[in-house]
Amino acid sequence: MPAKGYIEVNELYCKACELCVADCPHDVLALDMTRLTPKGYHPAYMVDPGACTGCQICAVVCPDAAITVYRYARQKVEA
Ligand code: SF4
Ligand code: SF4
Repeated sequence: MPAKGYIEVNELYCKACELCVADCPHDVLALDMTRLTPKGYHPAYMVDPGACTGCQICAVVCPDAAITVYRYARQKVEA
């Protein structure tokens, strides 16, 4: 299934609690162990962006309101 959405993580707010990682129904998210936020946490990121449906569960469960979800607009394809 093609991606229907994507997310952005505000790294000033993310504290690496992993709630979004655990609750994403499509295993889109992981903590980026190669990077640190300004506060010293490994931030959440999209490890499998093609699987995101834009369901917003990650944004709802994030206790720090660090996630913004975007959904792709439908476009008519001319035949
Ligand atoms: S919007 Fe849904 S599918 Fe996309 S990363 Fe968040 S929980 Fe996962
Ligand atoms: S739920 Fe929020 S604070 Fe926790 S890892 Fe995900 S983005 Fe970061």
